[in-house]
Amino acid sequence: MTTVVVATGNPGKLTELQGYLQALDWTLALKPEALDVEETGQTFIENARLKAAEVAIATQSWAIADDSGLAVFALNGAPGIYSARYGHSDADRIDRVLTELGDETDRRAEFVCAIALARPDGTIALETEGRCPGSILKAVQGAGGFGYDPIFYVDTQGKTFAEMSYAEKERYSHRGIAFEQLMPALKTLDLTSSQ
Ligand code: IMP
Repeated sequence: MTTVVVATGNPGKLTELQGYLQALDWTLALKPEALDVEETGQTFIENARLKAAEVAIATQSWAIADDSGLAVFALNGAPGIYSARYGHSDADRIDRVLTELGDETDRRAEFVCAIALARPDGTIALETEGRCPGSILKAVQGAGGFGYDPIFYVDTQGKTFAEMSYAEKERYSHRGIAFEQLMPALKTLDLTSSQ
């Protein structure tokens, strides 16, 4: 059993990651509260690398980080890495995206989730980016989930993220896809060596 520090102070995110990583013999721990990593990267993967590396070095442990958000094509990828900061509340952020998109006919968007795993010395052992394509509705639909879920429609499933069951979202979301991509490499990784 090896402890891997999750580069988040959010217990909810820790629980979520525990779900995705349950096939592994890992114990997940929250990062120290006092350790605040600034997300200065220009891309999701840069931010994931940065958070994983800084937390790994500070704790001298393996560390895993994710960075995710919504990219709307007609808004040149906005809100992108600023997804969490695009407004004061989920409702504000949704309103802003809907207002900025207006009557635009190209409603294509994708959710992106970048994940990076850092060794105790801060070097990156593994990384990946999961993408879930969809489109932005003109009004909210569905009551589940969080964030931009009620306006993000997954064409292949015929519903928004907010209308999906937990299991469905886990399977089809950017985060689910990213962990699925990473899992074969994670299973063969030897965390007792720092190589
Ligand atoms: P984080 O990197 O996981 O903290 O996500 C950054 C922001 O992206 C969140 O605050 C949400 O606004 C948005 N976001 C990320 N993943 C999702 C999702 O699955 N549904 C809805 N919004 C999401």
